[in-house]
Amino acid sequence: MAVCLAAALPQTALADTIYLKNGRKIAATHVVQENGQVSYETSAGRLSLPSSIVDRVVHEVESLDSQAGTAADKAANLPIAPPNALARVPNDDAARAAVRDGSVDLTLLTKLESEADANPTPTAVARVVAAETAAAQFGISVGDFEQAAAHYNVGLRYAPDDVGLLLAAAYLRLRRSEYSAAVDLLDRARRIDPDSPEVAKLAGWAYYGLNRAGDAVSEWKRSLALKPDAEVQHALEKAERDSQEESTYREGETTHFRLRYNGGAAPELAREVLRTLETEFEEISSTLNYVPPEPIGVILYTNQTFVDITRAPSWVGALNDGRIRVPVEGLTTMTNELARVLKHELTHSFVGQKTNERCPVWLQEGIAQYMEGKRSRISAGALLSAYERHMEFSLGSYETSWLNLSRDTASNAYAWSLAVVEAIVNVDGIVSIERILDRIAAQSATEDAIHAVLHDSYADLMQSTAQYLRKAYF
Ligand SMILES: [Zn+2]
Repeated sequence: MAVCLAAALPQTALADTIYLKNGRKIAATHVVQENGQVSYETSAGRLSLPSSIVDRVVHEVESLDSQAGTAADKAANLPIAPPNALARVPNDDAARAAVRDGSVDLTLLTKLESEADANPTPTAVARVVAAETAAAQFGISVGDFEQAAAHYNVGLRYAPDDVGLLLAAAYLRLRRSEYSAAVDLLDRARRIDPDSPEVAKLAGWAYYGLNRAGDAVSEWKRSLALKPDAEVQHALEKAERDSQEESTYREGETTHFRLRYNGGAAPELAREVLRTLETEFEEISSTLNYVPPEPIGVILYTNQTFVDITRAPSWVGALNDGRIRVPVEGLTTMTNELARVLKHELTHSFVGQKTNERCPVWLQEGIAQYMEGKRSRISAGALLSAYERHMEFSLGSYETSWLNLSRDTASNAYAWSLAVVEAIVNVDGIVSIERILDRIAAQSATEDAIHAVLHDSYADLMQSTAQYLRKAYF
């Protein structure tokens, strides 16, 4: 049984689950119950069901309080909406002209910049800012955060004191887990507008991402004092739990990690954990061709504090909610099992950050198990026989949070996820996994990403997985 969980949700919508009276579950978003119908959004469009066959609907947002560690709580993916500045569409001809027919008019942008360089009147500068903002918003809409950040930077060159631009640029950094760069931008914004609740809100997020829970708590308290905000309240409660628990913890630090552990854990174990993680970091980095921009937070718990703080279901062994949280009760030295758990959880950090937290759970868990060294030999027989009885796993239904799954269902989901990833790696090479992740990062739906790289639908993928299992193990 895999001892882990890293839930991932699409960023734009929290998932709901519709439980039918016949026991089936449907993962959906934007569920609306009215006039005897339950309607909901799926990748295939809006569908509806008669209320009479629905048992209940569980909204992800309702379960957040009882389950720290859902994806929406991730440091990199706190349920914090973009600042208004990010969505503000500049009402300006230059902005309308900057994006046309689905692309950015770079020639126009260059022309506006030269005009502002030659004669930096307020009007000329405003035109550059409006056009760059429109171009950045277009970049965000197509998932190209790098381009978007570049456009905000140009805007800031002409209007360095524009708080809206600074907030929008900082938000983008936060979404890319580039917390230090976000702090720099927010410091600038604070010098211009010291009493902005938005600045304090985003600064709290940046510090939380930098594993500075104490500073995150101060920023979020400050933001709340300036303006009540449910998102900030929720984030603050989470940070306070961490900061209180960790106030007595000891610390260790290496190039890529910030480790905290409580007095119950041996300092030698903490050092070995860091050494192991550094080695694993290099391996995963070269396999997935990615380097996380900031040090990764790791916390070692005794078992009971792990349960108290993470509030995870009983089948969860370790957890990655943006920080790697591992129970180490009774361990004094590195074991093979602990090294595997660390590698598994570390893989989640890489995959999460590489895809801007857009990777579906089945693919996350498949890759993490593959990287930790697990293979399908033991489960191959059961999976094949399920496949032959048409009782295979449905990849589409396991894209979002697994936190509500029973132990057995979760165990089955882990086994299929591994088998699918193992089949992809063996048939198409690990480089196809990297390509799929790149597509997901650029906002492709997962099945579309799979199709673009492997020319397979989910159904084809299950078939090729079954073929692979037969060939490899029988
Ligand atoms: Zn996992």
